[in-house]
Amino acid sequence: MSELKGRCYCGAVSWQAKGPILWSALCHCEDCRQAASSDYVSWFGIERSSVIWNGPRQMYQSSAKVLRSFCSDCGSPLSFETEVFPEETHIYAATMENPSAYQPEAHIFWSERVPWLTLSDDLPKHPKGLQAAAEAGKPWLRSE
Ligand SMILES: [Zn+2]
Ligand SMILES: [Zn+2]
Repeated sequence: MSELKGRCYCGAVSWQAKGPILWSALCHCEDCRQAASSDYVSWFGIERSSVIWNGPRQMYQSSAKVLRSFCSDCGSPLSFETEVFPEETHIYAATMENPSAYQPEAHIFWSERVPWLTLSDDLPKHPKGLQAAAEAGKPWLRSE
């Protein structure tokens, strides 16, 4: 797998990672919408130890178990880390240099989507998160 790269809007913060991408999903939860000022957020998960950050990345505690980060120069949201998944960093896919390196596999927190959103894709639409979907026996991973 080729190396993944990304950056914030102004370019002061950049990241690179060897991969592989562990999962990818479009999140409609209210927290993500508010934190990103966006209708929903395209995420991917990657091993935390494989990501190298450069530049003025600032962390803040967005809820009890969650640290989100952003560029302290331009404010672009960059990442999400939770002690629930201590080995993973979740990165905003919109920061990727090459958008076609990303392929969403599911919608999550579909139950919290904005009411006017109309989407025509045929991805699985999980009412809650991926963990809940897995526990309910719903397949969400790309077929290998
Ligand atoms: Zn920036
Ligand atoms: Zn979310």
